[in-house]
Amino acid sequence: MKRVLLTGAAGFVGSHLAERLLNDGFEVVGVDNLCTGRSVNLTAFESHPAFRFVQADVSMDLPEELQSQKWDWIMHFASPASPPKYDARPIETLLVNGEGTRKLLDLCAKAGASFFFASTSEVYGDPLVHPQPEGYWGNVNPIGVRSIYDEGKRYGEALCFAYHRSKGVPIRVIRIFNTYGPRMDPEDGRVVTNLMFQALRGQALTIYGDGRQTRSFQYVSDLVEGIVRFMGVDHTGPVNLGNPGEFTILEFAGKVGQLIPSAGDLVFKPLPGDDPKQRKPDITLAGKLLDWSPRVDLEEGLRLTLDYFKNREIKES
Ligand code: NAD
Ligand code: UDP
Repeated sequence: MKRVLLTGAAGFVGSHLAERLLNDGFEVVGVDNLCTGRSVNLTAFESHPAFRFVQADVSMDLPEELQSQKWDWIMHFASPASPPKYDARPIETLLVNGEGTRKLLDLCAKAGASFFFASTSEVYGDPLVHPQPEGYWGNVNPIGVRSIYDEGKRYGEALCFAYHRSKGVPIRVIRIFNTYGPRMDPEDGRVVTNLMFQALRGQALTIYGDGRQTRSFQYVSDLVEGIVRFMGVDHTGPVNLGNPGEFTILEFAGKVGQLIPSAGDLVFKPLPGDDPKQRKPDITLAGKLLDWSPRVDLEEGLRLTLDYFKNREIKES
């Protein structure tokens, strides 16, 4: 049985990935310090005989029990990911993508494991090339409010390639574009959760800026499928994983309003600093390399997410 050390397992993406890997026959040890993740995300699979959870901060020294084991894969998904969450944890965000990545790469070199790094479309910053192919180097403000996340991930990617080139550690790097779905934290401050919960509560939908900025929204099962396919291919990446369907935030609010009729009017708020004006993945490489493309469109994905929020989050609150 192949053994995976998965950081960020109690988070939104990490919990879906853990569940999929268990279903595919992997043994998974999930590590998380629960700073933005939630133990409720583990309930679907925590009693699986091939799963174990270790609560630990991966920016600090890893627990001895994790350092002395044999791993096939170390998959690094731990990091605050929504702008309000990383704004609130600037140093921790830099550390988990810097020091945390370095410690895990060292462990890979020692344990003979392959490393999988969850990077982000934010490495492209406020992109001047549209859509964004992997060969685009980006337009990032190195000292702006988003730099803790953007530069943290860019440094994490650089570390991956340094360990690959100098120590031969096998690596896979993905750049994830805005992803949504069940198990997102309703309080994470992203546009999907903010607008869906505002609509469910009959409140006005908050639009930052004029709402003409664009994003491309990927449903979580498509991301997980891309990740699993990439594990089976000998290629370092980076590979973009995202849904190329592009929407202005005003269009996105319109979709939420159609789905949840209790939604209030729009209310306009100031645009946060360095908020990218446009974002859309070029997924040509993922198509060729992984024979992958997203299957779930925005309407269907929002419906599935709403079902989950209605059944779980609303009842629990
Ligand atoms: P999330 O906040 O739901 O999950 C991240 C998890 O990492 C949380 O459970 C958190 O508690 C844990 N964590 C953070 N710092 C840690 C530390 N020092 N030690 C141990 N655990 C720690 O976010 P997510 O949306 O699931 O994102 C998962 C990964 O994917 C992140 O690396 C993120 O940067 C990346 N990503 C996500 C998106 C997206 O749209 N969701 C887009 C691009 C990249
Ligand atoms: N946004 C918005 N209203 C909200 C939350 C976010 O208009 O309540 C905007 C935000 O300014 C950004 C876009 O929606 O332009 C996507 O924001 P999110 O935080 O989801 O992701 P990111 O900016 O990291 O792509």
